[in-house]
Amino acid sequence: MLTRHTLNVFEHEDPGIPLISRDIYNQRAAARRQELNGRSSIEAILEMTSGDDSDFNHWHATESGERNSRLSRLFLTYKPNRELIAHNHEVLIVDSTYKTNKFKMPLVNIIGVTPNNKNFFIGSAFIPSETVEDYKFVFGALAHLYESIEREYPNIGMEAPATILGDGDAQQIAAIETVFPDTQYRLCIWHINGNIQAKLLPKIKAEFDSKSSNSSAEERKEYIDETWKNFKNEWMGTLQANSPAIWDSNWMQFRGDYDNRFPSVMAYIQKSIVDKHTKRLVKCWTDRHYNWGIQATSRGEGQHGILKNELGSLGTSRGDIKDVVDKFRLLLRRTNSEIRASLSQESQKFVQRFEPSIFSKVIKKVSIYALDRVLGQYFLLKPPKGEEIGTLRPCSHLFRAAWGLPCVHEIKERIDTNKSLEPEDFHPHWFLDRRLDGHHSVPPCRQFENIQEPRIAVPKGRQPGALGKRKKQKEDLSTERNSSHHEVVAAAVSGDNSQLKGIHRAPKPRGRKRKATEDISSSQAPERRRGLRRKQGTSG
Ligand SMILES: [Zn+2]
Repeated sequence: MLTRHTLNVFEHEDPGIPLISRDIYNQRAAARRQELNGRSSIEAILEMTSGDDSDFNHWHATESGERNSRLSRLFLTYKPNRELIAHNHEVLIVDSTYKTNKFKMPLVNIIGVTPNNKNFFIGSAFIPSETVEDYKFVFGALAHLYESIEREYPNIGMEAPATILGDGDAQQIAAIETVFPDTQYRLCIWHINGNIQAKLLPKIKAEFDSKSSNSSAEERKEYIDETWKNFKNEWMGTLQANSPAIWDSNWMQFRGDYDNRFPSVMAYIQKSIVDKHTKRLVKCWTDRHYNWGIQATSRGEGQHGILKNELGSLGTSRGDIKDVVDKFRLLLRRTNSEIRASLSQESQKFVQRFEPSIFSKVIKKVSIYALDRVLGQYFLLKPPKGEEIGTLRPCSHLFRAAWGLPCVHEIKERIDTNKSLEPEDFHPHWFLDRRLDGHHSVPPCRQFENIQEPRIAVPKGRQPGALGKRKKQKEDLSTERNSSHHEVVAAAVSGDNSQLKGIHRAPKPRGRKRKATEDISSSQAPERRRGLRRKQGTSG
């Protein structure tokens, strides 16, 4: 049991229940507050979002850990979104915004993804800085949110998120690994490529200038753009490896192509990205977990970009904090009703391209976005006129594992036996009304998601993804019970893991380890397929 002194995260609606624990004692300097009649801005926000008729739930932490001391951290979630969260809790995007100057502190948004690939706010946290402890508060509060939603929707099964996509911030990763040890952290490719681009462009410029002295500015620009585009496409293709062996060979080939030409950039990629993050980036690892194909936190266009821009403009708006909170509430209300409307519209809509009888039982039940992904798999067998049929490789199970959708092999089996796809072939995330189709069934390839690389304790300076280190990994085969979620969350906030048991102490692999196949999927959304020339085959 937690003692009285260790409590410092409170669920506002239910102040009688102690939630998670201590250690803000060391934290105080971080919060630089904007004074508002003696209140911090965070206290002002809390005041404006609480009350019996409030449409927010929140969790908060105080500076000293005592209830009566100053608020230092606040996690807000919009009550009408609870149903959306219950239905779409497997894949999350974490996105920090710094432009919310009104609040003088980072705002961390946890974003969810709907069946029709739209984004919505799961929770927003105001934290004084971005330390591991700050992020443990954010994800600890998220864990509590999940527990409270599970009590409301006991049939849904609110497990920890399967994948959280983020910008690779080390503190953020450390906090997530503590609070949600089984969750796959996936690195945002947009951030990674931005970092590479910043390092590479000056080198390309230098290369051009050393070769051609009297070229026009346009020629120079064209050369730079073209070289970057090729580099990026090849790099992205390298990451699409369906097995560790293919990754090794892709990476060696990529290095062979560019090591001599851009040595410092290649050394940077090796040291800062590959050595540290292979398993958070390369398909054969990331796609063992549901991720709905999401690769970037900041998609330049699309829903998430819109949310982010509107939120950014909230923070820089001229109004006072009340104005900002009111606008935030309007944004939440609007996105919530837009999403509901779009889902119900889809359930009415007949879409010509899903005419093949194999789709007959799932149209209007499953989102068009998901059906299009499956149609892409179907086209591998029965391509549209004018396109050639490819060679079908053995199933890697990665498409099923990452998307929760039937792959080309499952579709082939149905066609061969004259059957159509059933709603149970689709992960319930994709249902337009998740409750309608009731229980969560286990689709054919689903057991694959449980097969994970063993987690290993990594000595300082050695990262789990480091090339050539794989063979040294040891599996923990102990059979002791696992810590409960409460214990994990409590430890997350206290930073004391010594009491944790089972997978939370030194997680052991779940399920048997599957041998990597030579199969390569080309089943992604069109934007993922571009530039993936390397060792590609046709399959799913
Ligand atoms: Zn397959």
